[in-house]
Amino acid sequence: MRFLLSLTFGAVLLLGQPTAPRPSGSDSPTEDPDVLRARLNIQRLRALVEAGALPRIQLEQAEDALGDAQDLAVLRRTMYGQDITDEQSDEMVAAAQRRLDRRQKQLDRLRGLIGSGIVAKNDLDPAAAQVDFARTQYDLAVSRANLTHELAAMVRAEQMRPPRASDGASGNARGSVRYDGAGVFTPAQFQQVSAAFEHRFSKPLPVSAMGETAVHRALGFDHRGRVDVALNPDQPEGVWLRQYLEARRIPYFAFWQASPGKATGAHIHIGPESTRLGAVAD
Ligand SMILES: [Zn+2]
Repeated sequence: MRFLLSLTFGAVLLLGQPTAPRPSGSDSPTEDPDVLRARLNIQRLRALVEAGALPRIQLEQAEDALGDAQDLAVLRRTMYGQDITDEQSDEMVAAAQRRLDRRQKQLDRLRGLIGSGIVAKNDLDPAAAQVDFARTQYDLAVSRANLTHELAAMVRAEQMRPPRASDGASGNARGSVRYDGAGVFTPAQFQQVSAAFEHRFSKPLPVSAMGETAVHRALGFDHRGRVDVALNPDQPEGVWLRQYLEARRIPYFAFWQASPGKATGAHIHIGPESTRLGAVAD
């Protein structure tokens, strides 16, 4: 959990600035230049192979290069993009996995040629370095996907919240607590909460979602003006935060899990309840 929390905090920098949703998948209207280049190259090679002017292996290599360029385009959009959904994070891991597999296959192929004398042992170094790089990229993709899954679990916790029982601090022992306070949460109050937390614990408030994110949009939530903090409501920082908010009558929800029996999704949502996004809203 500590690992996830620190990851979650790390993502604040990535998730802090919401961006407009981008098209996903290979049918995006503006094709990645590398993908376009690889696609044109294949057309040219296919004609040459069919005419018998080139061996088929060259076409296969070009097709591999096209797959690789497509996967790189997915990674550019997801790994280096700021705000992704659960679904896009799965696409990202799959693309990173295919890039790793292609490089591993190439390394194995070269290894197989050592005995034949065509390839010398140190010819393997660049291919091995490529495998290492692709593996690092894959590990990063997995970390980022885990983080996005954790964020999505937090959003689902809000989605699954049972209907309220009463006004004020009302509890549901199974999963959530609601505190309405004065019903208002302003940016100035956020600055104060954030500064007080940092002063008290000598570390930044672990914000996991600042306002609306791609995950909220995907699940149909208007989370604007709300802030999620990746703290278990029972850990000392979480207990402190809830007391701080109640002393200032700032509304919050505390969640222990995404759904009964799940170990994910614990967080504190500061601000009023999210509303559902309208059918015509973004
Ligand atoms: Zn929230």
